[in-house]
Amino acid sequence: MRILLVEDDAILGNATSVYLRNNGYVVDWAQDGKQADLALHEDMYEVVILDLGLPQMDGLNVLKRLRARKISTSVIILTARDALEDRIAGLDLGADDYLIKPIKLPELTARLRVQIRRKHAVSAATIEYPPLTLHVKERLVTQLGEPFALSPREFSLLETLLMRVGKVVSKESLLGNISDWDDSLGNNAIEVYMHRLRKKLLQVGIEIRTVRGLGYLLDKQS
Ligand code: CA
Repeated sequence: MRILLVEDDAILGNATSVYLRNNGYVVDWAQDGKQADLALHEDMYEVVILDLGLPQMDGLNVLKRLRARKISTSVIILTARDALEDRIAGLDLGADDYLIKPIKLPELTARLRVQIRRKHAVSAATIEYPPLTLHVKERLVTQLGEPFALSPREFSLLETLLMRVGKVVSKESLLGNISDWDDSLGNNAIEVYMHRLRKKLLQVGIEIRTVRGLGYLLDKQS
């Protein structure tokens, strides 16, 4: 799941991005409003974590410009404790949730999970695709209760496909979900990871279909 973190405080931004990466998210970190605005024009994100007090362009403006383009990416705003008006303005401009600084990182990831579940209408903590079960929070896959070994990238690919089961997922969107700015992977890399994931899934009778020119598809199970 690819997240855009917008935070101008270097220590907080660094700590947050490290924490999120350790929790299996792909994170791009923008340190001012203009950079965030540019990133939101160029890339697709699952969730944006948006500080409001930012250099270059403030967070409310970034949000306003995003919603003006009819982009429904979930946005969680970060505000100061006494900034009630900012919170109201943010929610009115289309923020989905807010957190008051100083934020607690486990709470931030819990709120992220809520946004991701809402977006994909996945209500449970697990996604069943027999014989596999994907545990969203723990970021692991089991087969009849036993661990099913996947690398973090293979996990992210499978998660993306499972959240859009029955729909074709493009290579670009898969790529966006497994690599961030610091670690840009080419289209070939997706094929390599997909090849490995496919091989593992075939052993349990699950087939990822290639839809030529469009992407990959995990069929709905009947
Ligand atoms: Ca700030």
